[in-house]
Amino acid sequence: MKVLISGASIAGPTTAYWLTRAGHEVTVVERAARPREGGAPIDVRGEAVEVAERMGVLDRIRSVRTNTQGILYVDRSGRRSTRLYPGDFAENPGRDIELERADLVSILYDAAKDDAEYVFEDSIETLAEDSAGVDVTFARGGEARFDLVVGADGLHSVVRGLAFGPGGTHHLGMYVALVPVDPALGRADWGVMHNSPGRVAGVYSHRGSATGFFMFRSPELSYDYRDVDQQKKLLISEFAGEGWQVPRLLDAVRATDDFYFDSVSQVRMPSWTRGRVALVGDAGYCPALLSGMGTTLAMVGATALADALAAGDHRAAFARYDLAHRPLVDHAQAGVMRSAAVLIPATRFGIWSRNQLTKLLPLAAAARRSTRRRAQV
Ligand SMILES: Cc1cc2nc3c(=O)[nH]c(=O)nc-3n(C[C@H](O)[C@H](O)[C@H](O)COP(=O)(O)OP(=O)(O)OC[C@H]3O[C@@H](n4cnc5c(N)ncnc54)[C@H](O)[C@@H]3O)c2cc1C
Repeated sequence: MKVLISGASIAGPTTAYWLTRAGHEVTVVERAARPREGGAPIDVRGEAVEVAERMGVLDRIRSVRTNTQGILYVDRSGRRSTRLYPGDFAENPGRDIELERADLVSILYDAAKDDAEYVFEDSIETLAEDSAGVDVTFARGGEARFDLVVGADGLHSVVRGLAFGPGGTHHLGMYVALVPVDPALGRADWGVMHNSPGRVAGVYSHRGSATGFFMFRSPELSYDYRDVDQQKKLLISEFAGEGWQVPRLLDAVRATDDFYFDSVSQVRMPSWTRGRVALVGDAGYCPALLSGMGTTLAMVGATALADALAAGDHRAAFARYDLAHRPLVDHAQAGVMRSAAVLIPATRFGIWSRNQLTKLLPLAAAARRSTRRRAQV
């Protein structure tokens, strides 16, 4: 089949890898000029580690893993309030892998680029489907016909909008911003975070570099997705007057041209496929940035779709894809508001309670490990 994939981040190249290996002719169209770097470290968890192994990229992923020791929460003057260790909350401690997002994007791009055709700086403009295929026009003026179209173009997916209509996204009442910062603002291999009610600012240091991180609670805001200066102003006014290193992090926001700002949202769809179009990754089932599961869902979902297509025609395959992948998506989406309560409590009392409760987490984790050991015996 001729397959068009929109998006070259995590879901797109993983889908391209599997579909080219199955003998399909794959084109990947990406709006940016190259695979987009940037972002804080991300996690490859559980079944996604198995996917990486099947793709033959696990050793490369492991070789660039970060060495995060944990998260320190500090007060306005920088004094430690509490800390969290990865083992306190990881579902598969020792097996899950954290790495820089840019590293994973480039590993997956390398895995797929020789067998798929990549087209950068372009985007799907229209889709017109009939019983035998999909006619596609592109923003730069081209047109072509494909047997299937896969939307792997993230939270604001163009393919989702064109094939399914508006809707599907659910704002979770928070916004996030990321900016590269001077590692001296943080502490090597630690996340350092400062909360005030409804806000968190932090520095995540990894492999010699560092990402400044902001989140704040807010109802849905109206702003221009393309107007980065407007987004910067919005963030700066939200965090004005905060203590700790926040003024210096805001200086980095003012100075950067590598700024990421987005709503913390989930995508919930009753079906990820319609006709000859399928959605993969954040485009179909974004679990929200703070779930730590977006990458895992994207890699596992892309593989589930390709496995399903290997077994037969696209109609039956799309149904199998949904059946195979939905339990993991539901699980990942369900846990997000619990993470929000820990990361970004809405009140002073919430921050205090979080600090007290996190002190008990190492005890809870030890109890879980001992129960697991007893069950194995
Ligand atoms: C710059 C950036 C930084 C991120 N930082 C973090 C982070 O720090 N922590 C975290 O947990 N998650 C982060 N994410 C999200 C994370 O990558 C995803 O949740 C997850 O890995 C699933 O990946 P995905 O491929 O489905 O979607 P995404 O990673 O969002 O990728 C979508 C891709 O589609 C492209 N695209 C968008 N619209 C079009 C279009 N119209 N035509 C063609 N291509 C299009 C985008 O440029 C992007 O390459 C970030 C995403 C991006 C793009």
